[in-house]
Amino acid sequence: MRRTGGLPLSRDILNIRVRELKPSGIRRFFELIIGRDDVISLGVGEPDFAVPWRIREEMIYSLEKGITSYTSNFGLLELREAIADYYKKFGVETSYENVLVTTGVSEGIDIALRAVVNPGETVLVPEPTYVSYQPLAFLSGADVISIPTCPDFKLTFEDLVKYRDRNVKVLMLNYPNNPTGVSYRKKELEEIADAAVELDCIVISDEIYGELSYNFRHVSIASLNGMEDRTVILNGFSKGFAMTGMRVGYAIAPEPILDGMLKIHQYSMLCAPVTAQIGALEALRNGEDELERMRAEYMRRRNFFVKRLREMFDVVMPDGAFYAFPDVSSTGLSGEEFAERLLMEKNVAVVPGSAFGECGSGHVRCAYAVSMEKLREAVDRMSDFVNSL
Ligand code: PLP
Repeated sequence: MRRTGGLPLSRDILNIRVRELKPSGIRRFFELIIGRDDVISLGVGEPDFAVPWRIREEMIYSLEKGITSYTSNFGLLELREAIADYYKKFGVETSYENVLVTTGVSEGIDIALRAVVNPGETVLVPEPTYVSYQPLAFLSGADVISIPTCPDFKLTFEDLVKYRDRNVKVLMLNYPNNPTGVSYRKKELEEIADAAVELDCIVISDEIYGELSYNFRHVSIASLNGMEDRTVILNGFSKGFAMTGMRVGYAIAPEPILDGMLKIHQYSMLCAPVTAQIGALEALRNGEDELERMRAEYMRRRNFFVKRLREMFDVVMPDGAFYAFPDVSSTGLSGEEFAERLLMEKNVAVVPGSAFGECGSGHVRCAYAVSMEKLREAVDRMSDFVNSL
């Protein structure tokens, strides 16, 4: 259905930003495997655990009680208070007044960008990058500059300050990172914070994998000197608490930015789903044990999987999340060829690294959010494939 009754779509969609609005590389690729039971998919960035039972129970109970109405635009007060309190574990002292409950981090990314960016201002996006940052930044009217971070996938002070004359308004930061799994220790974050101060820009810090950190404790960049007033923290319940379909996340931001975000949120979303907010509150109050159980399991899989991958490829050690991003160029295949042939010949799905930006080409993203058994089988098949080349 391509007709619009003869009326054109928005100029932004049609002309200026149409190239960046190509369908997400990941989704397009997965159309190839829909409905195939014989495929082991390391492609989807989604926990393989169900929402922990006590969280489900709390949501069911709230439905039984008939709690189904809108909440405040900001979200449930108890949840906002619990989020403010919870973020102490990542080094941030804040108040519920700085918390907005969103419909997933996805909404948070969109409204944070739209609240702060004027047309013509620049958004810096380190690559490889989560797929939504560039399209949403373009839709906010920004000029986007991609910063390649290969080969170690770490952003440095020098990478950033060379853009000091480019009217930079926002740096998008994501750690632990999708698709590389790489994260930053406090000392490394200090460099990034210094650069943000030098550029006088806002950092939108997507910390959705902060709970899934294996090598060191996650620290929020908002906790560092000079960053409190220029950081929008985004986090949520999709990954750590396996609540992807519930659609609940949050932003912690300085008051003027939060007010701007609220102006969009209250008209476009009204509020996050109440049942999901109740589940989120239970997750923060009583979900720590379940979170730890899932985190430990991902870490076990990472240790196994990366060891096996390293027998075949160069792989930067993922510090967190549930992704590995091997460099498959030693096979002589591009990331796309590798992924397509692995799927066709061995029934294992991975995502070509180029879906995450040019600097991801030559790599593939493998999500180890599958059982150990499947992971072992997938890596055996991958090894057979590489040996057959
Ligand atoms: N940010 C990153 C880095 C992600 O990887 C994802 C999902 O894959 C999201 C945000 C989306 O999160 P949510 O489900 O909270 O909208």
